[in-house]
Amino acid sequence: MSIKEVGYISHQELIDAKQDISAARYAKGPVAVVECVQQIPCNPCEAACKFGAIKIGEPITNLPKIQEDNCTGCGVCVAQCPGLAIFIVNKTYSDTEATVAFPYEYTPVPKEGEEWEAVNRKGEYQCQAKIVKVMNPKAFDRTPVVTVAIPKEFADEVRSVKRK
Ligand code: SF4
Ligand code: SF4
Repeated sequence: MSIKEVGYISHQELIDAKQDISAARYAKGPVAVVECVQQIPCNPCEAACKFGAIKIGEPITNLPKIQEDNCTGCGVCVAQCPGLAIFIVNKTYSDTEATVAFPYEYTPVPKEGEEWEAVNRKGEYQCQAKIVKVMNPKAFDRTPVVTVAIPKEFADEVRSVKRK
């Protein structure tokens, strides 16, 4: 099943897109995780990154590739992606928790300190999520970026939240 058919990315599509981050890079702190598997003419992520950490090149339909050692985990690219396909994952947040930051274009927007339900790419419940940060400056053009803290073992699956 592809994202075109079911509306969410499958694990096989992620594997085929070869956008995964190495364990060694995860061990260094927050990093952008790009989950963009459709060959569409799109490249604002490449332009948004001042560190040259996202490469698309020519043709513009190439899938974006993350240059993981150039990525600082700053998060600037997250709100710039019209496909809502970039996440910041920090597996070093604490001994037991990771953080995942994602674009969130629904209302109400979560507030810092609240507890929501963390969901996977299909929208299925995974675990409880503490909202640790919500960024919504003008430069994000109405795409708030929400960061949640979750048990570390869910860091590769949690990609959004829903209200309890
Ligand atoms: S998180 Fe920052 S450094 Fe990393 S790819 Fe995005 S814009 Fe570039
Ligand atoms: S901006 Fe988003 S949708 Fe467009 S190529 Fe980059 S990751 Fe894919």
